[in-house]
Amino acid sequence: MGTDELYPPDRLIAAQRATAAAGLDALLLTPGSDLRYLTGYDAHAGERLTCLVLPAEGEPTLIVPTLERPAAEASPAPATGVRIVDHADGTDPYPLLVAALDGMPAAVGLADRMWAEQVLALRAALPAAAQRLAGEVLRELRIRKSPAEVAALAEAGAAIDEVHLRMGQWLRPGRTEAEVAADIATAIRAAGHVSVDFVIVAAGPNGASPHHGTSDRPIGVGEPVVVDIGGTMASGYRSDCTRTYVSGGPAPADFLDYYAVLHDAQRAAVAAVRPGISGAAADAAAREPIAAAGYGPAFLHRTGHGIGLDGHEEPCLVAGNDRPLEPGMAFSIEPGIYLAGRHGARIEDIVVCTTDGVQRLNTTPTEFIAL
Ligand code: ZN
Ligand code: ZN
Ligand code: ZN
Repeated sequence: MGTDELYPPDRLIAAQRATAAAGLDALLLTPGSDLRYLTGYDAHAGERLTCLVLPAEGEPTLIVPTLERPAAEASPAPATGVRIVDHADGTDPYPLLVAALDGMPAAVGLADRMWAEQVLALRAALPAAAQRLAGEVLRELRIRKSPAEVAALAEAGAAIDEVHLRMGQWLRPGRTEAEVAADIATAIRAAGHVSVDFVIVAAGPNGASPHHGTSDRPIGVGEPVVVDIGGTMASGYRSDCTRTYVSGGPAPADFLDYYAVLHDAQRAAVAAVRPGISGAAADAAAREPIAAAGYGPAFLHRTGHGIGLDGHEEPCLVAGNDRPLEPGMAFSIEPGIYLAGRHGARIEDIVVCTTDGVQRLNTTPTEFIAL
C-alpha cells in the first residue's frame, strides 16, 4: 500500500475547506495524529516547535526544527504539497509561524493535544486570535476511513490476531502476568507492529478490573485470564483485540455461565452494525442480553470506541450517541462482564461499518480459549 493512498494530498484541501466553513482562519497542528493524518509525517514531539500551519486559504507550511528537516523531507509530507521551513536551534520559531499566516488571524484551531507551553506561546504570538480546537474540524474528516485506511486497520488486525493465536506458547499456570506480557510484547513487534501500545494480562480477580495492566501475581490453574493487546503499525494505524483464556484446568462453572451470555452479546452487537443504526443502539444490542441475564451492573463500560491513528477516537458505541453509523466508520465492539473479587471476561473485535453491514477486522474465534 503506497503512502500516497494512505495520506493523499486532497486531505489538506478538504481540511482547508472545513476550516473555512467552521469560521477558523487556520489550523495549527503540532506533532500528533491530526498532523499525521493530514501530511503522513510522524513528527517527533519535543520542546522545539514543529507545527503545520494550515491557513483556510493559501499554502500550507510545515515549520520544523533544522535538525528534524531530513525526517520531515523523508516523510510523505512534501508529496502532500506542504512547504517545509526550518528554524535553527536557539532561534525563535514563532515569527516564522506568524509569517506563514496571511495576516493576523481572528480565530485558530489548535491540535487537541498540543502542549500547554505551545498553546501559551501561540497566545502571545497571535494575541488577537481566539483559540479553538482543531478537532472541531478534523474529527469529522477522520471519523470515516478511506479504503486505504480500512486496509491499514485490517493489516493491524491480522497482525494482532497472529499474536493471540500464539498465546498457548506463553500463557500457563505458575507464570506471572508480567512474564507472559513480556513475551506478548515481543510477539506484537514480531508480528509487524512498530510499537507496543498496551498489554493487559489480567488473571483471576485481576480480570475484574477492565484496565488492569499486569502484575507479579502468578496465574492460577483454571483461572480465566483477560488478554487485551494492541500496537501501532508502520502505517500509523493501530490494533486492539481482547480474548479471554483459561489455562491448565477446567474453567469455573460461574465463568462458563456468564461467558456464554457475553459471547452472545458480543455477536449480537457485531451483527447489529450497519449504516443508519446509532452508536447508542449498537451499545444497547450488547447491553440488553447481558442485563437480561442479570449481569447488567457487571458490564461497567461503553461497548466500543473508534480506532485509527489514535487508539481511542470517534465514534463511540455508548448510550447517548444517537449519531447514525456510516460506511467507513471503524470501532471496537468489546462488551465485558467483571465480577469483583472473582474474575472477568471481555471479547473485543475491531469492525468497520460497510455499505450494507459490517466487516470484522479481527477474525479469530471469540469463544473462550482453553489452553
Ligand atoms: Zn479500554
Ligand atoms: Zn482493547
Ligand atoms: Zn478497545
